[in-house]
Amino acid sequence: MVADPNVPLAERPRDVETPDREGDSTEHLPIVVVGAGLAGLVAARLLKAAGYGVEILEKSRGTGGRLNTRREGTLHLDRGVRYWSDRGVLSRQLRRGLVGRGVLGPWTSPAYCLDGQGNRTVAEDSRYVAPNGLSAIAKALVDDLPIRFNRRAMLLDRSPITPDLWRVRCDRPRPDASTEPPDQFEARALLLAAPAPQTAALLNSLGTLDPQCAHYFANVAYGPCLTVTAGYGMDVDLDAAPWQGWGSITFEGDRALAWLSREDRKQVDAPEPAIVLQTTAEGAEPYIDLEGDALAAAGPALLKLASDRTALPLDQADWVRVHRWRYGTVQRAAGVPCLILGGDRWPPLVCAGDWCIGDGVEAALQSGVAAAQYLAKRLGDRPLIPPDTDLDLAALL
Ligand SMILES: Cc1cc2nc3c(=O)[nH]c(=O)nc-3n(C[C@H](O)[C@H](O)[C@H](O)COP(=O)(O)OP(=O)(O)OC[C@H]3O[C@@H](n4cnc5c(N)ncnc54)[C@H](O)[C@@H]3O)c2cc1C
Repeated sequence: MVADPNVPLAERPRDVETPDREGDSTEHLPIVVVGAGLAGLVAARLLKAAGYGVEILEKSRGTGGRLNTRREGTLHLDRGVRYWSDRGVLSRQLRRGLVGRGVLGPWTSPAYCLDGQGNRTVAEDSRYVAPNGLSAIAKALVDDLPIRFNRRAMLLDRSPITPDLWRVRCDRPRPDASTEPPDQFEARALLLAAPAPQTAALLNSLGTLDPQCAHYFANVAYGPCLTVTAGYGMDVDLDAAPWQGWGSITFEGDRALAWLSREDRKQVDAPEPAIVLQTTAEGAEPYIDLEGDALAAAGPALLKLASDRTALPLDQADWVRVHRWRYGTVQRAAGVPCLILGGDRWPPLVCAGDWCIGDGVEAALQSGVAAAQYLAKRLGDRPLIPPDTDLDLAALL
């Protein structure tokens, strides 16, 4: 499906330390999962449950990817997914398990939709949150899985000693990394669960992608998103009528604003009112290439817009921060459950993520499951993880 992996690499790692081998077997080596978002984590959990060794490499300092919680003092702010809702069979299964373990609980603060004419309706979906933020979901999935943070996978190639193995080279650990583990990893199989552009860049180290594979990547399109977080003094009335007790407001049909949420209403004993405001892709476009103060200035401007829309004093914040998602939401997907590369000619290599199927957590979970099923079938030395009909993600927790 893609070009021969034996083409010369742009940069070949040198001085590779080769671990002691148990005979010629590669079974003792792990399946390496690149990316600790939902797709990578659910796949890693399923493979671990089936008896495979796994190791996760994550470029950032935490788990969850776009399921992202930022701490601000004692506040926990969900900067990505605002609440968990049952978007499909898999997100319902996982939610059941997470509620059972006390990770998620129902969020009863009302969620409203506000249209361009100022009409307000109440959203009827069931919503679940975690008191310390939704990244608790990713932490529950990681549990005892081996994971290395601050490891950005940069180059892939085949092991020079055993061509049945993949080798992943990561950039140097950041200075704050507490240990000095090797920055090269050998794997009997690879699961790339980063967003499509990062995955394509990583695959480039194997040579030119073949046209069919390149077509899948070329088909994927993301929309950017700007996340504004803000905190308020107790004297600012964010519950002015008719918004008493609100938890979330979705701006229907708005070109710039997507939604607002009251983050302090997700946790007990929040020290102050705090909100997250998300833009649409169109609303993020004017700011997406700005840096520093110019990017920061987007925060007050967007809060003013939200203030005008709701008549709430959202523009009177004590502090404001802006986070930029260049690859925020999938606007056009590859159209495959997961992307299998190289077929039987290569050691197993598969890509997964929401971008394979569509936007959102259900797509990420479906793709992670599909990739795990492929790998378990291809490696074949452990019982297969359950087929779709028997699969229950709640049992993973
Ligand atoms: C603001 C916002 C709000 C959203 N709201 C909702 C919502 O309400 N409902 C919903 O269903 N969905 C929502 N989504 C979408 C949802 O977050 C995603 O669909 C889902 O989390 C994607 O999971 P993933 O595992 O496919 O990718 P990601 O979460 O992007 O995970 C990929 C991981 O790979 C890591 N990575 C990337 N490159 C490398 C590398 N080279 N080496 C190592 N690691 C790497 C990243 O750091 C990341 O941890 C929202 C997204 C955003 C941005």
